[in-house]
Amino acid sequence: MSEPHSGSTAVVAADSGDQEPSSPVPTGVPAADDANPAVHAAGNGFASGIAHSLSDRTSRLDEIRARARARDEAREQAREAHAYVRAGGIRRRRTPEELKNVVERGQALLHGTSLPGGPGTQREASAEAVIAWAVREFGPWLAVASSMQDTVLAHLVSRQLPWVDVLFGDTGYHFAETIGTRDAAELSLDVNIVDVRPELTVAEQDARYGARLHDRDPEKCCAMRKVAPMKQALRNYEAWATGLRRGEASTRRNAPLITWDERNQVVKINPLAGWTDEEVEEYAARNGLVVNPLHDDGYPSIGCAPCTQRVENGADKRSGRWAGLDKVECGLHA
Ligand code: SF4
Repeated sequence: MSEPHSGSTAVVAADSGDQEPSSPVPTGVPAADDANPAVHAAGNGFASGIAHSLSDRTSRLDEIRARARARDEAREQAREAHAYVRAGGIRRRRTPEELKNVVERGQALLHGTSLPGGPGTQREASAEAVIAWAVREFGPWLAVASSMQDTVLAHLVSRQLPWVDVLFGDTGYHFAETIGTRDAAELSLDVNIVDVRPELTVAEQDARYGARLHDRDPEKCCAMRKVAPMKQALRNYEAWATGLRRGEASTRRNAPLITWDERNQVVKINPLAGWTDEEVEEYAARNGLVVNPLHDDGYPSIGCAPCTQRVENGADKRSGRWAGLDKVECGLHA
């Protein structure tokens, strides 16, 4: 018994007993591609095009994977080398007195004179020059701090000190966009991101101090989740570079390029102190850098989610931070 046929096939019945029975043939289609060389060739070309395209994609993926592996290896080697230096493998960490002398030398070299146009006037050094000095002076004993509002400072420093440690204060209260910016920075820049975390998780803090401490006592919350962990992390370094800029807030109006950070007992370097918002944006655009998407969504200053609000056009850029409270700084830069 023959198999039932389906679709648009038809059976051509045998018209005499001495003929072979006909095979089922699709209506309007040649019995086999072999019967039509053009169709056969087109079919082969199509198949080989797909094969080529798949093989191109596979080799591109292989290249991307190889590059990612090479980056991971380079990061790991640099991490070990930097850790070796900071463990005293080449020299010990300098004492506060020695580091204060370094600050004085740096200020004399890089700070401008205070009388614009006067005799002996010297312009303040550029961000690149300040970073070059810091890299010469500290090498792997230098860290960068980043809130992941943008990646400009991390990029600037990594160009002169590849795989520099970038300290990210991971408070547990960040916007998803900020964590995404952190991850994108790790993938796209030659940096080593170090997540600086508080002793207590948010759940542990809630259990010990009650929920929403940030609403009731933001000073205490910032002290535990930002200031203390960063102080602890900075014990591994002689200097930190921050993205502090004079134009950001009245509290930052006098930010120097180089200073002694008494609280953390390290040298503090603010290479972008004199940069405007436009200069930061222009640098990020020119170098194709990752910027926190919230920045273009009404958040000119980005901190923890519970303590950061959108800001009206033209309003003080930091007015969305701890809005309605008598608090303008978290304490890291006090
Ligand atoms: S910014 Fe707000 S949530 Fe973040 S540590 Fe400070 S008080 Fe806590």
